[in-house]
Amino acid sequence: MALSSMGRVIFIGAGPGAADLITLRGVRLLAQADVVLFDALTDPALKSYAPHASWVHVGKRGFCDSTGQTAINALLVKYAREVNTVVRLKGGDPSVFGRLEEELQALAQAGVACEVVPGVTAAIAAAASSQRPLTRRGTGRSVSLATAMTRSGDLNATRTADTEVFYMAGKQLAALSRQLIAATWPADTPVSVVSRAGWPDAMHSDHTVRTLAEASVLHAGRPTIVTVGAGARALNSPLQTEPSGASSGDPLKSMVSPVGDARPTATSKPEP
Ligand code: SAH
Repeated sequence: MALSSMGRVIFIGAGPGAADLITLRGVRLLAQADVVLFDALTDPALKSYAPHASWVHVGKRGFCDSTGQTAINALLVKYAREVNTVVRLKGGDPSVFGRLEEELQALAQAGVACEVVPGVTAAIAAAASSQRPLTRRGTGRSVSLATAMTRSGDLNATRTADTEVFYMAGKQLAALSRQLIAATWPADTPVSVVSRAGWPDAMHSDHTVRTLAEASVLHAGRPTIVTVGAGARALNSPLQTEPSGASSGDPLKSMVSPVGDARPTATSKPEP
């Protein structure tokens, strides 16, 4: 191929779960791919939209190491020089905890043209799955997308918005609970945990900042979103959470729900 025909790279957000959460634009551009570099958390069913492309798995789970990232950057540049259209398919939205910055920079340095197609990020899918609106009129006026993981792999939670949504914290919920209290979140603040949001087997459970550790076993081994504050509050519960110790019976049974289930509606106590 002539040097002048340098290919382009299209970053596409695949959405956080089942293949039908990708956007129509994403599907249309995916169909033009010669090569697709895809992540661990994307649905294999997406392959049917680009059956003739070569699919290259570059996924990493957990905290990405820089060597892996450098190799991905190099692969993107290499393929862009070899074919017309390279798709970089990322779970959720490419701009949210997706190392998009490094990849765009590497491609810009190599003179490769890029485009970014947005996707549904896991925080939004978790809100939809659990039917917990992320913003609440009057009480939930700001949302923060946060990671509790620092570069060195330590945990450092924050309180920067009415609703704080944590990515990549599923393995360290006990530590997150302690960090949230250290970050001035009251111990009885509602916390909603959703794993595999957007998949048919998504699971949702309710906790407080104090009791968050009990979610570890429930969601073990599954990609998990932890929503803290106003956006975690159940629709039929009062503004303040119930006093501690109010629950009765098996605590695990009462707080878990597969998200497809019928759930209590807000008829008895409508939101203001
Ligand atoms: N770019 C992605 C996030 C990548 S970071 C996005 O926009 O969604 C990976 C983290 O995302 C996981 O550790 C988990 O916290 C979250 N995540 C990804 N898919 C998820 C899903 N289906 N359900 C719950 N959390 C998910």
